Amino acid sequence: MAGIYIHIPFCKQACHYCDFYFSTNTARRTELIDAIGKEIALQKNYIRGEEINTIYFGGGTPSLLTPEEIGVILNDIHCTFTIAPSPEITLEANPDDLVFAKLLALKSIGINRLSIGIQSFDDDILKFLNRAHNAGMAAKSYEDARAASFENISIDLMYAIPGQDHKVWKKNIQKAISLNPEHISSYSLTIENKTVFGKWAAQKKITAPDDDISAAEHIVLIDELEQAGFEHYEVSNFSKPSFMSKHNSSYWKGEKYLGLGPSAHSFDGTSRQSNISNNRLYLAAIQSDHVPASIEILSREDKINDWLLTGLRTAWGTNLADLLKNYQFDLLQIHGPYIRQLIDSNLAVVSDQSLILTKSGRLLADKIAADLFATDYSSKR
Ligand code: SF4
Repeated sequence: MAGIYIHIPFCKQACHYCDFYFSTNTARRTELIDAIGKEIALQKNYIRGEEINTIYFGGGTPSLLTPEEIGVILNDIHCTFTIAPSPEITLEANPDDLVFAKLLALKSIGINRLSIGIQSFDDDILKFLNRAHNAGMAAKSYEDARAASFENISIDLMYAIPGQDHKVWKKNIQKAISLNPEHISSYSLTIENKTVFGKWAAQKKITAPDDDISAAEHIVLIDELEQAGFEHYEVSNFSKPSFMSKHNSSYWKGEKYLGLGPSAHSFDGTSRQSNISNNRLYLAAIQSDHVPASIEILSREDKINDWLLTGLRTAWGTNLADLLKNYQFDLLQIHGPYIRQLIDSNLAVVSDQSLILTKSGRLLADKIAADLFATDYSSKR
């Protein structure tokens, strides 16, 4: 089982908080689609022998492409790889791109899951974030997607936004619940140096909410969504039963994936590969039959750390037997007293050979993982 990720590096405008790789210059968009087709051919052996279960168009803003352009890429993938009988095929989309006729066309080319970047249902907040849509467009895009028979819709919401009070945040959550999506992803806003917000923060024009505010908003989110029947299956992700994101879950389970397009990442079980984050250089390299990627061979320690970091964020936790079998790493023996402390503090349980963080533990998942892997493993083998 493996997945394919396609990075579409174009956006209509730059959101004030965003540090993903994208360009607002779409002049070379057709060339880029051709180049992704060529990269598919160049990378046809990267995940050799694996059946592709999930395909994910991310970005940037993949919904800027026409259904025909997306269809060309999908067709190249289908012609090159072995695709599972019912793959999950997700398109990240912004509300301002989703009109009914386009949604119907996306459905007809095989897109069966939408991840809509709503972020907020509050017009003032959307303006502050410099999103290209307003609250009315957000709700309308969702309704049109339902009318076009999309049965698996995820929406993104953002919290810890400077100036967003708890009341607005709670109203956002309630609005999201009222739409009844199958999945909600929610991330706290982080202020990155090279963004507009980074500049404003340096000039003291805005202040990031402190960790306590961010944690309080996260807890409200968890409580409200669990009450509404969502399963909190990963720190930032919630789903109705059987609607977990298969693509993202495969990352957290350590499965292989191929990333296509500028700045996309790949993982083949032993190394990580990162394509160059520059459209011009990407195009030039692919046109010369070369995939412009840096490769990092993962050490045993890297693999253990990844396993802990991703597993502990999920509801299924880190499988201790697999850690022992795959990496000869006996977590209970090495960190027994610390794990006992986590269990006594109601932050973790050991169940079914897995270390699973409780609801309170998962709020501290990254720190707990770091405590578990900040050790020189080589001396503990
Ligand atoms: S649309 Fe998404 S990728 Fe593009 S700038 Fe906004 S947050 Fe970043």
